[in-house]
Amino acid sequence: MTKFTIPVDKFLSQPTPFYYYSLPLLEATLSEVNESSAYPGFKVHYAIKANANPEILKVISRAGLGADVVSGGEIRAAVAAGFPADKIVFAGVGKSDVEIITALEAGISCFNVESLPELEVISALALERGKVAKVALRVNPNIDAHTHHYITTGLSENKFGISLEMLPSVVDEAVALKGVELIGLHFHIGSQLTDMKPFEMLCDTVNRLNAEFNDKGIKLQTLNVGGGLGIDYNQPDLHPIPDFKAYFKVFADNLKLLPGQELHFELGRAIVGQCGSLITRVLYVKQGLNRKFAIVDAGFTELIRPALYQAHHKIENLTSPDKPLEKYDVVGPICESSDCFGKDELLPEISRGDILALRSAGAYGEVMASTYNCRTLPPSLLI
Ligand SMILES: *Cc1c(COP(=O)(O)O)cnc(C)c1O
Repeated sequence: MTKFTIPVDKFLSQPTPFYYYSLPLLEATLSEVNESSAYPGFKVHYAIKANANPEILKVISRAGLGADVVSGGEIRAAVAAGFPADKIVFAGVGKSDVEIITALEAGISCFNVESLPELEVISALALERGKVAKVALRVNPNIDAHTHHYITTGLSENKFGISLEMLPSVVDEAVALKGVELIGLHFHIGSQLTDMKPFEMLCDTVNRLNAEFNDKGIKLQTLNVGGGLGIDYNQPDLHPIPDFKAYFKVFADNLKLLPGQELHFELGRAIVGQCGSLITRVLYVKQGLNRKFAIVDAGFTELIRPALYQAHHKIENLTSPDKPLEKYDVVGPICESSDCFGKDELLPEISRGDILALRSAGAYGEVMASTYNCRTLPPSLLI
């Protein structure tokens, strides 16, 4: 397999921190997505919330993917990056009136609706404009994705989607309302899933509902199974591209599409996660009583996943990869104890000025950056 090495020499003169993106890896990932999803009726949308860097979005739209958006701002970002409106789907549990109007005016292909009151508002706003909005109902299939509880979304007590019990009454309403056309069902069970079993279980639920709708005489045009395919945070160089073949094959083997139906996917992390790294410089090496701290110039303001989800990103010393290993706590400058990228990290001996990479930071990194502590948002470098 091609090696996607980080070009350290290009970093030496750059102010830190910054996000580095490997465009060759992104392109190779997109080719793999397109090849592995080439089954009849399969359509892949990119979940913009994972990374909305305009240059990244342009590469993804050029590769022919659609866009999954969760806000009015993301609709504008998608349109600006060249995603055609008829390939944009709009999800989210709290769409504001202004956002719904933005979507209606842009002419997006589908609203993924998460509740009855939302359905009624979309219908009313569409009718006021002489339009009929295409909608899919987001169903909560009550599947335990066995992932971190902050990123599981498919359990009944979750705020997302409509429960299986309440679905029939919402469907009746969707059929009765004049401003909406029910075209499909939508599911999204969680994120960072590396085991295919939950996706197989999802297929069973989708098949059962699809058959029930068909028996009732409701013709669904699209089934949308969301995203959630995970990446290898521990060994990004061993698995720079997720196993898309296995992922799409689960659906090709298990999901029974009726004639003319499309199957939609909304992948975020799996597409952009591995192509990005957060590059940071070591400010100080501080000897504590029992531990040694490598204090770096990036913090949770640039990469919040460790603080937010107890996630771990592989850390590399790019300046001195061959020095003998020592143990460090790698911490940022933010005034919070959770501002820590790793405890007891075994790393080649670190000195002030060394450049470190926090790997696999392409998804939910730059998009979640904040200016806490009056810090400035860091730039990105695409190579
Ligand atoms: C977040 C999200 C996605 C993308 O999730 P990934 O884990 O990044 O693939 C897809 N669909 C919906 C509805 C989402 O909320």
